Amino acid sequence: MKTTSLKLVLVSTPIGYLGSGKGGGVELTMRSLIKGLLSLGHKITLLAPQGSVLPSDCSAAEIRHVPGIDQPSWQHQEVSAPVVIPPDGVLLGLWEQALELGKESDAVLNFSYDWLPIWLTPRVEPDLFHLISMGAVSQVMKTLISELSKSDPSRLAFHTYRQASDYELFGEPVVLGNGFDLNHYDFQPLGGGPLGWAGRVAPEKGLEDAVAVAAALGDRLLVWGVMEDPEYAKKIESNFPPGTIDWRGFLSTAELQSQLRTCRALLNTPKWNEAYGNVVVEAMACGVPVVAYDRGGPGELINSGFTGWLVPPDDVVAMTEAASQVGMIDRKECRNWVENSASHDGFARRVESWIKKGISTTKFPKG
Ligand code: UDP
Repeated sequence: MKTTSLKLVLVSTPIGYLGSGKGGGVELTMRSLIKGLLSLGHKITLLAPQGSVLPSDCSAAEIRHVPGIDQPSWQHQEVSAPVVIPPDGVLLGLWEQALELGKESDAVLNFSYDWLPIWLTPRVEPDLFHLISMGAVSQVMKTLISELSKSDPSRLAFHTYRQASDYELFGEPVVLGNGFDLNHYDFQPLGGGPLGWAGRVAPEKGLEDAVAVAAALGDRLLVWGVMEDPEYAKKIESNFPPGTIDWRGFLSTAELQSQLRTCRALLNTPKWNEAYGNVVVEAMACGVPVVAYDRGGPGELINSGFTGWLVPPDDVVAMTEAASQVGMIDRKECRNWVENSASHDGFARRVESWIKKGISTTKFPKG
């Protein structure tokens, strides 16, 4: 079935329904990609947990809801933790349907960071492809990804080179970046607003360092995102002057960008090897410069001195100094970078060519 227009099955993350925010950046990545793939003429069936929603500009995609309990995320487990699949988990339901639908499709594209779909890859008839969404947070995942890379590297793609460098891969990794629909972000030429921070409120995101920067500057920090770890949030709040954190909650993209674009800078403080860093690019799409630790994806997304500043990881003093210099950044440069390097249609074309190449060179036996 190697036609120009592909019949694709996309499998969503089993961590939470699409729209819950629990899936982190994967949720927005999928929405952007579906829109881009549809506009390239591909036929999309999305398998996603019950409750998942797609925006109206993705209505040409068929969505099939799968019941079952959420899969525990790898990112909050020990690196040596074993694989756990709940018997009534949504992961099993998603892959039962994916394997069935995959027989009538050109390819199945997986967005979950899970053992099962990767293990299945050389063992089943449908061509399974995996856009890996995290660094190597689990030993068992790291080993499995390395094994798949050895048997057929074309089945794997990553968001950034820094993310890919966490894995032992055979040959050059396929690095696809990510994609954002620029129509959803309004450019704000004027800086001068408060500092902002966005992301899941969880230890690997290092919110405490951004709050420390705001406190050192006697400023307020607007914070958006899913409250994943309330205890952690409470602890941060108790360590800084009252009012330093301005909690804004988890907002839709439209609301998020309307507040984010007023900021003079976004602070980005990853404590882990961030695979990409959607919020970095969303801020830049609005013209907001980003001051980030030079760690993981953000280190590849920010052109230090042009679209923001990169500072040594965990160096709060350097970040405070850089945050006071964001007035030197031309906000148009930030928007231009996103237009040129991270548009949703460019991303969809890169994904399309990865899949087309993969299905034409597959190393696994069919049927
Ligand atoms: N986000 C959102 N509303 C908010 C705050 C964040 O929709 O109020 C989304 C944001 O658009 C981004 C995701 O949360 O897509 C966070 O993704 P990122 O890649 O920055 O980090 P991850 O959570 O995947 O580690």
